[in-house]
Amino acid sequence: MKLIFKIFVISIILMPQNLLAIEFKGEFIQGSFILGKTKSDTRIFIDKTEVKVSKDGYFAFGIGRDRKNDITINVLKNEKLTVITKKIYKRKYKIQKINGLAKKQVTPPKEVYERIKKDNILIGKARSINSNLPFFKNKFMTPLKKSIITGVYGSQRILNGKPRRPHFGLDFAAKEGTPIKAMLDGTVTLANKDMYFTGGTIIFDHGHGISTLYMHMKDVQVKIGQKVKQGDIVGTVGQTGRSTGPHLDVRLNWFDVKLDPASVLKIK
Ligand SMILES: [Zn+2]
Repeated sequence: MKLIFKIFVISIILMPQNLLAIEFKGEFIQGSFILGKTKSDTRIFIDKTEVKVSKDGYFAFGIGRDRKNDITINVLKNEKLTVITKKIYKRKYKIQKINGLAKKQVTPPKEVYERIKKDNILIGKARSINSNLPFFKNKFMTPLKKSIITGVYGSQRILNGKPRRPHFGLDFAAKEGTPIKAMLDGTVTLANKDMYFTGGTIIFDHGHGISTLYMHMKDVQVKIGQKVKQGDIVGTVGQTGRSTGPHLDVRLNWFDVKLDPASVLKIK
């Protein structure tokens, strides 16, 4: 009797999930990467925008730093629409005050505006790629073995008393010249030795709009279009661009939505 009751309860709990055949990996919290799994003949819309579903049923999306509204996931299968609504949990971000900086470190001089604009266009283009690469569903690895986390995602920066853009990366301080490993298989979509803010910069496409960016590199050892395997050496730690010391700053994006790299590396 007891066992029958148990089976009955379990089946009730599992039934809606089974019927829908959809699973999520990742926390519905600001800045988080979410990996979804469904049946391949299912169409998925995140806030009304359709996302790619791979042949084996994987899809990905992310939650912005300041998102407050619930996220709506529309699941369309055999002309039947199911709407899933997920609450987004808020985070508290650190406030980082840095004073005594030279004026040009807080506000870039006018003569570099054109250069900054060009850099931003290149980065934006690389991040807008919506390829079929299947790597986003795999486990990411840390790009540096020995390092100290010196900066986290989301922190608000106040430079010389002026609020500036939040910091969206994860900073790994390490000795200049330390080899950097690719966190995941991917294709190089940007490789530039000298960008104004980011210095030596690489962007990798991992598929479905998921990209990673590495910055301030001393050496950039890959070329655009190159296919890279997880763990391959792609360059070395430096302090190029706007950097206060040798470190690797890693970024994670879902298209133009900036996500927390710690959400895929499980670093807190
Ligand atoms: Zn940083």
